[in-house]
Amino acid sequence: MLGSEMPMTQEILVVEDEPDIRRLVVLHLEGNGFRCRTAATGPEALRAARSRPPHLVVLDLLLPEMDGLEVCRRLRADPATERIPIVMLTARADEIDRVVGLELGADDYVAKPFSPKELVARVRAVLRRAQPREPARVLVAGGLRLDAARHGVEVDGHPVELTPKEFGLLQALLGSAGRVLSREQLLNQVWGYARAEEIESRTVDVHVTRLRGKLAGEGRRIVTVKGVGYRLDAD
Ligand code: CA
Repeated sequence: MLGSEMPMTQEILVVEDEPDIRRLVVLHLEGNGFRCRTAATGPEALRAARSRPPHLVVLDLLLPEMDGLEVCRRLRADPATERIPIVMLTARADEIDRVVGLELGADDYVAKPFSPKELVARVRAVLRRAQPREPARVLVAGGLRLDAARHGVEVDGHPVELTPKEFGLLQALLGSAGRVLSREQLLNQVWGYARAEEIESRTVDVHVTRLRGKLAGEGRRIVTVKGVGYRLDAD
């Protein structure tokens, strides 16, 4: 089956170095239907947010290595993460103005000590406000699922890490499911017209082979059409 669906379970990146608080936050978010990933330091949070942008970041202000304000600033400065809503956890009332001020652009804050219920309510409210005007474009074929807006791919519900080129290939093939795409078409779509002439068409084969491997059982959907190119079979 191929078609659009509502966005998948919303994923929250919880950034907090104190294990007890981290666990508490995750417990309550997951208990309310969110999926969580965690990070204990600023650099770890930035890596996690860039590799797979979450729907929202719960960000503690006091972190080792790089504090929450700097993490917030860097998330906002990177086009890949600038639009991710951020709810800050702050320990001091006098920090709040800076945190939610235009300067840093956090969407909301919860002051410590906080009630988990209140945090969940804030997260929900921020996510509601952040709903994109257009629904996220999600392409599905069997156990394969690609969310273009989030740049995420799942196989049977498990996230799969793809390089940007592999993601582009899968998006092109899923977007034309059932139709053959030539190597040239794929080069143009994924590598761009300007560069297509400099790249050997064998490059496409190499990337398709790697992509198939990462998609495990669902990789068999990408069929080689001899002498022409590739086709993705949705059923
Ligand atoms: Ca902390």
